[in-house]
Amino acid sequence: MNSSNYLEIKNKIPLNVNILAVSKGFKSQEIKIIQNLGQNDFGESKFQEAFEKQLILKDCNQIKWHFIGRIQSNKIRKIVQNFKYIHSVDSFEKLQKISNISCQEMKNPLIMLQVKLSDDPTKGGFNPELLILKWREIKELKNIRLTGLMTINPKGLSSKENYDLFKKCRSLADSLQLPDCSMGMSGDWEEAIDAGSTWLRLGSLIFGDRS
Ligand SMILES: *Cc1c(COP(=O)(O)O)cnc(C)c1O
Repeated sequence: MNSSNYLEIKNKIPLNVNILAVSKGFKSQEIKIIQNLGQNDFGESKFQEAFEKQLILKDCNQIKWHFIGRIQSNKIRKIVQNFKYIHSVDSFEKLQKISNISCQEMKNPLIMLQVKLSDDPTKGGFNPELLILKWREIKELKNIRLTGLMTINPKGLSSKENYDLFKKCRSLADSLQLPDCSMGMSGDWEEAIDAGSTWLRLGSLIFGDRS
């Protein structure tokens, strides 16, 4: 890992765009190095892996943990207990369960709903029309703070195709009056900024290649 990568990218992005440093596959010491450069938001996609690092880093009170991986229903309680943000809520049933458990645990996680904007079979998410249909019901759920939408673009798209999909996500978030869009990874972050991302999820660009 080369910590100058982080500072370089930090300097390139507008101030209103947040960086989520995606630390999956990297160790707590590496998180600590990036945190010492002023980064406090870290994203993980597997509960167990994340939890081990959270235990090691439990004295770093400034760290805010974001869950960005596929959510297994039987891990929801642990995710609610240990993460401030959840970016990857991909169905109404899981959202309801998060709400119920958050009430029991007296938590109030910040939530981004994952939307499926292309027909990539490897990616889940809300169908946009269904999201709009369910919106009133979604808004009534307790103990969740809906702040935005999240999307993952398929690999191998042109710059224009990436931009167009991100723009769809931005327009949908705007129509629902949600401020945040969690979109853009190491390969498509520039298009995501142009389209109105507020959270770039950057792993390899900051930490290097995952082995
Ligand atoms: C791994 C991962 C990222 C970061 O990917 P990079 O290409 O390394 O930047 C972003 N979002 C999600 C959901 C991921 O699983």
